[in-house]
Amino acid sequence: MVSANATSILSTLITANHVLHYHSVLHAYGHISVRNPENASTFFFARTLAPALISSTEDINELNVADASQTDPTRPRSFVERFIHSEIYKRFEDVNSVVHSHSPQVLPYTITDVPLKAVYHLPGFLGDQGVPNFDIAEFYEPGDQQDLLVSNTRLGAALANTFNVNSTTNSFPDPPAVLMRGHGLAVAGETIEQAVFFSIYTQSNAEIQSSAIELEHAFPNTGEGSGLRYLTAQEGIDSWATNKPLIIRPWELWQREVQTVGQGLYVNGLEH
Ligand SMILES: [Zn+2]
Repeated sequence: MVSANATSILSTLITANHVLHYHSVLHAYGHISVRNPENASTFFFARTLAPALISSTEDINELNVADASQTDPTRPRSFVERFIHSEIYKRFEDVNSVVHSHSPQVLPYTITDVPLKAVYHLPGFLGDQGVPNFDIAEFYEPGDQQDLLVSNTRLGAALANTFNVNSTTNSFPDPPAVLMRGHGLAVAGETIEQAVFFSIYTQSNAEIQSSAIELEHAFPNTGEGSGLRYLTAQEGIDSWATNKPLIIRPWELWQREVQTVGQGLYVNGLEH
């Protein structure tokens, strides 16, 4: 089905599923995909299977960006929310990997007006404007099943259009994440490793921001300049510029974690 180059990317995709599960970004649900490096009009995406259990090419389908249909309709079906992935690839030509998760640390920011913003340097990519929040209720049409799932191209396109773009590029979102009200979030990356980095550190940022808000409420007005101090716009931009070339370092650690500590649960049949 695929070349050596594509086999390598599929191996990375399997590992990414395991890493995201190990770091509790993905649980029984949620998914990550990668655009086909040899054909930008398709992407690779698992069949309906818990991320921790994805282990071979038999578990991965090739889907068309155009309508999220499988190139081989006889294979086991992929997740209903495949339209999240297809429509983000369609909207942003420089996005090559997409993660959709139901991160419990991020979810409170999808149902309140508290903006999720960068609170420390590693998630500086989140910026200072607040991650946009997609409210699917604004896009339901009569007859839609209102189960919050992005289950067709119309809803997928609405989600993809909720990403912000900065003034210099229209081909990659800034920040690379969108919240989904009462559901979770979607994260985009130029590579699998980047999408995993963004996902893990968005979750970490949410956890730390929530802890800071709790402290602030428990002990208000106890110091000078009370109130949360977020990164400035420039600090966010400069932090990501510093971190971007270095994300292979955490990736190597995360890969080793699932190979060793995760032995017995995680199987990657494409690794050698
Ligand atoms: Zn979902």
